[in-house]
Amino acid sequence: MSKTFEYDVIIVGAGPAGMTAGMYAGRSMLKTVIIERGGSGGELLNTEAIEDYPGFEHIEGWDLAQRFENHAKKFGAEFHQGVVLTVRRLEDATFEVETESGDVYHAPTVIITAGGTPIKLGVPGEAEYAGKGVSYCAICDGAFFKGHVIAVVGGGDAAAEESDFLTRYADKVYLIHRRDELRASKILQKRLFENPKIEVIWDTLVERVEADEHGFVNNLKLRNVKTGAESNLAATAMFVFIGFRPNTGIIEGHVDHDEMGYLLTDTNMETSIDGLFAAGDVRSQLTRQVTTAAGDGTTAAIAAEKYLASLRDSSVGRIVATGGYAV
Ligand code: NAP
Repeated sequence: MSKTFEYDVIIVGAGPAGMTAGMYAGRSMLKTVIIERGGSGGELLNTEAIEDYPGFEHIEGWDLAQRFENHAKKFGAEFHQGVVLTVRRLEDATFEVETESGDVYHAPTVIITAGGTPIKLGVPGEAEYAGKGVSYCAICDGAFFKGHVIAVVGGGDAAAEESDFLTRYADKVYLIHRRDELRASKILQKRLFENPKIEVIWDTLVERVEADEHGFVNNLKLRNVKTGAESNLAATAMFVFIGFRPNTGIIEGHVDHDEMGYLLTDTNMETSIDGLFAAGDVRSQLTRQVTTAAGDGTTAAIAAEKYLASLRDSSVGRIVATGGYAV
């Protein structure tokens, strides 16, 4: 049966941004819920090792995710599992958040920390063989390919890092990139080039994914974009890391965004809709790191607290869950 909940702050997504926002909102004594469709951690769960979060020279992604969750819970943030379908601003300027199961959450402020969804190549066979050799998560699926020859597509940080990670299992990893230089940071490139199990196939696109009679990937049809030469790569897996699309489709009505669809915010992480904040990968910004997500989440929660205080102080006033802001 569907339920209705009242909160001060609703946070959509339990990645680093959402859990940091939850921790700060909790510390501000706001009644806070974090709604997440999967496990807590967001992109941390797709990252093997984190080496650039201050204070942790090396920590596994899942481990840091668990610590974020425990920390947010310690300060009172509640975690609910659910797939958010819509975030709707009501006429009284409060928000209604509806989940797939029909639950309705109501609050004067919402912080969107929903991250993004992996971009697909869009080539024949990709969707058909997803889960049967086509993957977007190395940490989830890498172990299935112990001793195999596999391919990674992309040229950014994710492709470089995950290629390196996948050599733990695979005998050989071919990194297929559409240009003749990588976009990945220099330190990840160095690690990649020094790994004897990785070979880069430059200037090349995957044109088709093929499978054996059981439907498991066994070949990739490739095309060199400079020479037009076609070739086959007998790989049993294709891991695609060609970027992310922000999960903003849940917001009903217009909200300002950049040309890629990332949400535009001011320095308080507030979007073009009053009371609606955005933090982390879903937000338009220079870089998408755990550190920046945590910073965004901090700012968003503190700004949301100030926003609630301004409602309390205004002559209009609105009722919120703790009752502290009622007129
Ligand atoms: P990204 O930096 O946007 O790189 C995407 C890569 O995919 C680019 O090399 C791009 O090629 C290629 N690509 C895009 N569309 C393609 C297509 N249709 N066919 C073939 N190739 C295609 O994405 P990302 O690597 O997922 O990283 C996203 C963000 O997360 C970045 O800000 C990154 O720094 C961050 N991140 C950081 C770490 C880390 O620091 N450890 C790890 C993962 C991600 P072109 O280069 O030709 O455009």
